[in-house]
Amino acid sequence: MTGWSGGSYGERGECLLAPNPNLMTLDGTNTWVLREPGASQVVVVDPGPIQDGHLDRLVSELGDVGLVLLTHHHYDHAEVAHEFARAKGCAVRAVDPAYCLDGDPLRDGEDLSVDGLSVRVVTTPGHTADSVSFVLPADGALLTGDMVLGRGTTVVAHPDGQLGAYFSSIERMRSLVVSGEVRTLWPAHGPVLDDALGVLDLYLAHRRERLAQVERAVSELGLVLAADSAEDETLPRRMVEVVYADVDESLWGAAELSVRAQLAYLAAR
Ligand SMILES: [Zn+2]
Repeated sequence: MTGWSGGSYGERGECLLAPNPNLMTLDGTNTWVLREPGASQVVVVDPGPIQDGHLDRLVSELGDVGLVLLTHHHYDHAEVAHEFARAKGCAVRAVDPAYCLDGDPLRDGEDLSVDGLSVRVVTTPGHTADSVSFVLPADGALLTGDMVLGRGTTVVAHPDGQLGAYFSSIERMRSLVVSGEVRTLWPAHGPVLDDALGVLDLYLAHRRERLAQVERAVSELGLVLAADSAEDETLPRRMVEVVYADVDESLWGAAELSVRAQLAYLAAR
């Protein structure tokens, strides 16, 4: 599927697509603008990269901004956050204190309220240690950052990202869907996902399948994993060539990070 260009979702969400498409960012970074109907202030999630006037567009198109939130620290989400917040006179909040501006680090379970809009913080480490998701209860939506993408699967960015945390976080998202609180996923790259349960189950199945493939390759090569196998110079790349043979070679660098995360997970078991 191609042709995602953002737009309005639910009663409260609008996605302004950043002009930074590539193999990793898919169509580009989704900058989510959230607003309670009738309210004047908005919350901006992931102002994104400076690329090709995205910052200028945000500054000129968005009026009163109450708060900037970051789903994690990667530059394609966070690069312009401080400059944008300064231009709008508001705070930036993220899990990592280093990325906050005039605001406290986000805490798990925290309820944010901005001009009548309710947003709940759910920490979901895995893609990175500081990955966080946001529940928009009134729209039954979950903003997933890079933990779940609109197409394909995501990267567990070893050593910052960890596979054990990743599995727990996806399970946690799943329980929000099963309880009926979340119906739709709004990712940071690619289209919104209305089959939330189907997608999360696919993510779990895919990651377990890759893990089994890595485990099989380890035993076929007669390797005994040690605590530092994930940091080995050549082993992860050899694994990628076997396990990710079906994936375009331009993505092997990213795949190698996930393989390192898998090796660390297996070695720690
Ligand atoms: Zn990322």
